[in-house]
Amino acid sequence: MDIIIAGLGVSGSTIAYKLSEKGFRIKAFEPLKRYNKACGEQVTATDDTLQLIKKSGSYVTRPKTFSIFVDGILASYINLGGSSSWYIVNKGKLIEYLRNVAKSNGITIKKELWKGEKATITIDARGPFSGNIKNKILVKRYIMRTEWDPEHVVLDLRPRQGGLYWIFPSDDDGKKVNIGGGFINIWDDKRLSSLIVEYASKKLGSFEIIDARASPLDVFSNYRLYQNGVFYIGESAGLVLSISGEGNRPAIESAIFLAESILKNDINNIGKINKEYLKLSKDIIDESSFSRKLFSFTYRYSKTIDMAKLMTNLPKWFWEKYILAKLKFGDIIKIASNPYVIKGLIKP
Ligand SMILES: Cc1cc2nc3c(=O)[nH]c(=O)nc-3n(C[C@H](O)[C@H](O)[C@H](O)COP(=O)(O)OP(=O)(O)OC[C@H]3O[C@@H](n4cnc5c(N)ncnc54)[C@H](O)[C@@H]3O)c2cc1C
Repeated sequence: MDIIIAGLGVSGSTIAYKLSEKGFRIKAFEPLKRYNKACGEQVTATDDTLQLIKKSGSYVTRPKTFSIFVDGILASYINLGGSSSWYIVNKGKLIEYLRNVAKSNGITIKKELWKGEKATITIDARGPFSGNIKNKILVKRYIMRTEWDPEHVVLDLRPRQGGLYWIFPSDDDGKKVNIGGGFINIWDDKRLSSLIVEYASKKLGSFEIIDARASPLDVFSNYRLYQNGVFYIGESAGLVLSISGEGNRPAIESAIFLAESILKNDINNIGKINKEYLKLSKDIIDESSFSRKLFSFTYRYSKTIDMAKLMTNLPKWFWEKYILAKLKFGDIIKIASNPYVIKGLIKP
């Protein structure tokens, strides 16, 4: 066998799709027939992703306006109009399309858990089911029937609780939302559920719960692209933007980067593939490492700094970059050296 892929979620099915066209002998392990893992179904689309969304017919809606709250206080309202790179997709449909193309290109799918079997190239794409549980938080989403602007998104950051609530549209005619949240130290499903339902009561007024689902999300692991003979992509590689919980784009991008690295080199030359994969992934590694640091910082220092006050004082450009996942370390330096931000920062 040339390639073994453990897990056919976002990253695994993307790499299976990309590599299956090239005639490799590929075996994938995926215990679930249909992908139905909890998700906000949001993707920040690059050109590649957009193409996949179009081909798979998984487009749902394209949010353009964003209300960002910190501890329930409105910090910024952003209208990205036609420049919005946010898409809400039917992730199950996207993954089914990718798996079906890979299958028709001849890959073998074993409907079982991966138990460590290796090939010339072995890829761990098990998402939050790979790695150490202590680096994860529990995140839950509800699909609720209600009235909602299908182009509007709410993000409500809770730095003291180390997490956030979100409300995303879940259709394009304003009748359903995807609402959820996740917080450090809340592993009790009952407690998390009641917090989210309470939040929904405040924000939506009347609603009807259609579906509820939870999953772990890795927000603390350091990135790893290759270890002990195994390549890692997506969440198993530690590529999630912790401060927003964004993991779909990093999963798709890392899968595409590893596929490109394999295609460019001899598959037996693991060293070269690894080097190329690392090079191509630089931006996404930087983004997720930075996001992890910012997430830990806002949580840790919310005990000594009035983080809500600081964050609600942040300029609009900062939030625009946050929404577009373009925040960089230099932006924090720019903020930290702004006397207006610093003045209102420390608790009396
Ligand atoms: C509630 C919630 C909401 C989220 N909302 C968003 C959002 O709106 N936007 C966003 O960008 N990100 C979001 N994320 C994060 C995003 O869903 C993940 O980061 C993304 O799915 C990671 O993709 P992946 O391919 O790494 O893993 P996954 O998509 O999780 O795929 C892992 C696959 O591995 C399979 N698997 C598990 N164990 C084994 C095993 N032992 N052997 C073989 N296969 C196995 C699973 O069945 C699954 O198919 C959310 C996460 C949660 C929990």
